[in-house]
Amino acid sequence: MKPTHIEHVGIAVASLEEAIPFYEKVLGLTCYAIEEVKEQKVKTAFFQVGQTKIELLESTDPEGPVGKFVEKNGGGMHHIAFAVDNVQEAIDQAAAAGCRLIDKTPRDGAEGLRIAFLHPASTCRVLTELCGKP
Ligand code: ZN
Repeated sequence: MKPTHIEHVGIAVASLEEAIPFYEKVLGLTCYAIEEVKEQKVKTAFFQVGQTKIELLESTDPEGPVGKFVEKNGGGMHHIAFAVDNVQEAIDQAAAAGCRLIDKTPRDGAEGLRIAFLHPASTCRVLTELCGKP
């Protein structure tokens, strides 16, 4: 596997409405999309920074993965996502290298991308996402 760049950094927030002004008014970025990802029980807001995006995640369900994270930690950095050419190939290679997977096959993420998560137990405790075009 050879990621081409950091596609995005995922940051969990209690409220998009409360978090967006920091990114827009202080950092001077523009929120260009808000999208609900039902499968992950989140509403996302995106900001472009060079080749990389900031993905803010607000939970739509307290029992969802981000809901639990926010309850435990109050929010904060949630995951890092690397862009790869072929997500299935990349997770197969990670598994072959002994990495524990959360997703054995890619699923749908925001912005029409295919995504898969590697388990934090194998990634120095940083939830790691691989994403790519379908
Ligand atoms: Zn993500």
